[in-house]
Amino acid sequence: MDNIQMVDLKSQYQKIKGEVDASIQEVVDSAAFINGPKVKEFAKDLETYLGVKNVIPCANGTDALQIALMALGLKPGDEVITPSFTYIATVEVVGLLKLKPIFCDVDKETFCMDVNHLESLITPNTKAIIPVHLYGQSAPMDEILEVAKKHNLPIIEDNAQAIGGSYTHTSGNKSANGTMGDIGTTSFFPSKNLGCYGDGGAIFTNNAELAAKIRMIANHGQSKKYVHDMVGCNSRLDSMQAAVLGIKLKHLDTYCSARRKVADTYDAAFAESDKITTPKRRENSYHVFHQYTLVLNDIDRDMVVHKLSEKGIPAMIYYPIPAHRQKMFEEFDSEGQELPNTDWLTQRVISLPIHTEMKEDVQQYIIDNFLEIVNG
Ligand SMILES: *Cc1c(COP(=O)(O)O)cnc(C)c1O
Repeated sequence: MDNIQMVDLKSQYQKIKGEVDASIQEVVDSAAFINGPKVKEFAKDLETYLGVKNVIPCANGTDALQIALMALGLKPGDEVITPSFTYIATVEVVGLLKLKPIFCDVDKETFCMDVNHLESLITPNTKAIIPVHLYGQSAPMDEILEVAKKHNLPIIEDNAQAIGGSYTHTSGNKSANGTMGDIGTTSFFPSKNLGCYGDGGAIFTNNAELAAKIRMIANHGQSKKYVHDMVGCNSRLDSMQAAVLGIKLKHLDTYCSARRKVADTYDAAFAESDKITTPKRRENSYHVFHQYTLVLNDIDRDMVVHKLSEKGIPAMIYYPIPAHRQKMFEEFDSEGQELPNTDWLTQRVISLPIHTEMKEDVQQYIIDNFLEIVNG
């Protein structure tokens, strides 16, 4: 069983090589490397796929978050509530823009924002909420939307890990992740569920005014050629990446199903072990398993990671240090904030390989070894 990886992008490429190569070749032949037709075409296709009025491509998922926050016109010191249990980019942009991150705890079972804690954190200085659809599962959006509405706060959904996933509202209506807040953001980093072959990102909104502002910010605050109305940045998705994404978008639903099938197999295999708590799926969320992250009960996690690696099985800790304990936020004294579930999970989570090309025998090998190591 050689060379098991967390994500197998090589095998995935082999299956779509013809389509992808042809699409990239078109860009090379046309020399329309920046803002070419491929970019516009992909943005349109993604709008249709998500059912959102505006998709604005940009350079990466971190820029997408930054631009979204810039579009809300916040002032230095304004408070933005985000989970601490997330990839650092979600919170880093808050600090970068001199806003104040306020950390919200997460639910122990679903890893997403704890809504009761969220509401308790709201002050007159709160100006935005950033829920994260962590590991591929929707945050509890109806509850978050209700809190936001009550306090008249905008929502930016960090959907870097859950594109292709959806949320069913209590009304019965279904929404694609990233389209429920005022703004949604995503990343096309290669290992993401919809990944390109370099860096890429996008911003979604149904609000025409915000869309116009976001387009402007992503392009040097430019309203007309060489007319700059505000300080923006330079953040573009290049045509080569759009060429790849246009092809991969057509396969996204299949990719999501493949990931879910791997998760189903893990869930079934681990159900009986009292050392393992498998990831809970909320009924109203179509979980797309960017990661398969489980909780280890009373086991030395370093030992597990080490023994897995001896068997050639990679495992990752997403994330080993929560944002509120990072030195970068020292000035906010965030370490003193009580986030019991975040700290509890940080000590216990482990992520196993999951991707679109998982072979049954490989997964069985991972399962057998993992069970043997944890059950002792
Ligand atoms: C990957 C990721 C980002 C950042 O995306 P980049 O394209 O790497 O900048 C932001 N938030 C979350 C939750 C992510 O997983």
